[in-house]
Amino acid sequence: MDQAKVRMERTVPVHDQADLIVVGGGPAGCAAAISGARSGLKVILLEHSGQLGGMGTLGNVSIFMGVGNVTGIYREIIAEVLPDRLPDSHEGSIWPQYSPFVLRHYLNSKLEKEGVRVYYHASFTSAVMDGDTVTGIVANTREGLRAFLGAKVIDCTGDARVAQDAGVPIHSGREGDGLTQPMTLMFMMQNTGKPVTPYLPEDAYYYESMSELPQGRHLYWEQNQDGTLLVNMTRVRGNGAKLEDINHAEKEALRQVFSVAHYLQRNGFETYVLSHIPGQVGVRETNQIEGRYTLTEDDLTSGRRFEDVVAQTNYEIDIHSPDGAKTTDERSLSGYDIPYRCMLPTGVKGLLVAGRSISATHVAMSSMRVQATCYALGQAAGAAAACALEEGVDFPGISIPKLHRRLADQGVVFWKAESVKQV
Ligand SMILES: Cc1cc2nc3c(=O)[nH]c(=O)nc-3n(C[C@H](O)[C@H](O)[C@H](O)COP(=O)(O)OP(=O)(O)OC[C@H]3O[C@@H](n4cnc5c(N)ncnc54)[C@H](O)[C@@H]3O)c2cc1C
Repeated sequence: MDQAKVRMERTVPVHDQADLIVVGGGPAGCAAAISGARSGLKVILLEHSGQLGGMGTLGNVSIFMGVGNVTGIYREIIAEVLPDRLPDSHEGSIWPQYSPFVLRHYLNSKLEKEGVRVYYHASFTSAVMDGDTVTGIVANTREGLRAFLGAKVIDCTGDARVAQDAGVPIHSGREGDGLTQPMTLMFMMQNTGKPVTPYLPEDAYYYESMSELPQGRHLYWEQNQDGTLLVNMTRVRGNGAKLEDINHAEKEALRQVFSVAHYLQRNGFETYVLSHIPGQVGVRETNQIEGRYTLTEDDLTSGRRFEDVVAQTNYEIDIHSPDGAKTTDERSLSGYDIPYRCMLPTGVKGLLVAGRSISATHVAMSSMRVQATCYALGQAAGAAAACALEEGVDFPGISIPKLHRRLADQGVVFWKAESVKQV
């Protein structure tokens, strides 16, 4: 049976215009906005929530996984927020835990200093199209629907929301069954220094042993000096871009948070209390665009290099089982390039997609999805927008050597850079 539909036609006031509209203020979006602004563009950043940093702050994913290339804006963030953790060379790998509250405040100030106009509580609703070219977006704001027009648009929503609405083909999850990685609500506990009474709500679970835990393992970090424990031990099946899945996940993940905290309070963390539960469940994987190039498992395992490299990483293949098993498929990698073409959506002009929803297979995205890589992709996307406007071409037509020059001017260093041509 066909789904019932309503037709919506509205005339919407244009609230603001810029050279570049960035949608989504996570790692990719923040870096895209900064990079665009540093290239001389007037930039607007629209963020659905009240904070920047994406999953890192909103979902309390407050640890950067190592990628083997601490460079560009990501390096700057480490230098300014976690100076003690900055490696001497770009080729270092660091795995620092950070305060999501500090990063949230830092990004507000950083974007303000860079001259980016940030609109909080502005949720992408639809793409404004001129034929097959994206010329802006309509957002649901605190004043109702408003349009924001831009010469170029970058989709950093993590879910490829802009691309999908503009008509770019999308795929999700594993080849075959389309299942995505599960969701996790990460939380914090704080050492009080004295025994506490474990608390378990009525409808929560009593976990007797490690094997009964949602991931069947312990996964937490206690790197911050103040006795903060960061816990990644809940797990809920589903695709975070689907209404029914996210509805279930928000309730189930919170139930698991109380249950895991209660387990930890009985198993080694007798002096710890729950101290922070973020406002939304963490979503690992939803939509991937169909781009000019699709990153594959073979690219990762063979350590492939590309002439149009825009980000480099050696983070492992890291797949939390999508089908309800308590396992995680982890396979180390020696390092690979992500090409610019993975951010170029097919069939639509005026739009780039940066961050975890680039064109990649389920296995490839499990590695490229981490925050440092998303910062790198965003930085390249912002610079690419400036190249396109300067050269008077659309995104696919830009000069890659000029893009690399611009990124180098912004402090980006590619290691094993034999494929990068100098201009
Ligand atoms: C549970 C979990 C654990 C993880 N562990 C780690 C880890 O240990 N280390 C690590 O480095 N990475 C980890 N990751 C991966 C990493 O956090 C994400 O893949 C990364 O943040 C993706 O960056 P992004 O910018 O593409 O998207 P996101 O971080 O998802 O940011 C997208 C932004 O767009 C906004 N947005 C969405 N829709 C709209 C809309 N319609 N309108 C306007 N704005 C919108 C969102 O509010 C958000 O701010 C983990 C992820 C999860 C979920």
